[in-house]
Amino acid sequence: MENCIFCKIAAGIIPSSKVYEDEKILAFRDINPQAPVHVLVIPKKHIASVDKITAENSSLIAYIFENIPNVAKIAGITNGYRVISNCGPDACQTVPHLHFHILGGAPLAEKMA
Ligand code: AMP
Ligand code: ZN
Repeated sequence: MENCIFCKIAAGIIPSSKVYEDEKILAFRDINPQAPVHVLVIPKKHIASVDKITAENSSLIAYIFENIPNVAKIAGITNGYRVISNCGPDACQTVPHLHFHILGGAPLAEKMA
């Protein structure tokens, strides 16, 4: 997808602080962390948001979730974490390439919104 910053990160055109990578997904540290550990997990294939998950691409989403425990462990999280995906304007999604935030490393706020 042209001009998609996360597609460029997935392709290695824009550098990132990688936590985990394989042929399907990439996990990298958020440039503006909102917790001591803040990692983003993305599919390398462009999917715009949770709203674009379908029966055709959902196995890739399952694959992301299969890998999240390992990503959290590699990132150094030992005492729990929150997984968030902002979807669309009301949720303040700023990058239109599906990503899951993994937040941890300290007790997080009880409220999510
Ligand atoms: P969202 O607001 O849910 O769409 O999240 C987008 C996230 O991407 C934000 O937390 C940003 O700090 C993060 N971000 C934007 N550009 C980069 C980048 N080049 N490297 C790492 N994280 C980024
Ligand atoms: Zn993209």
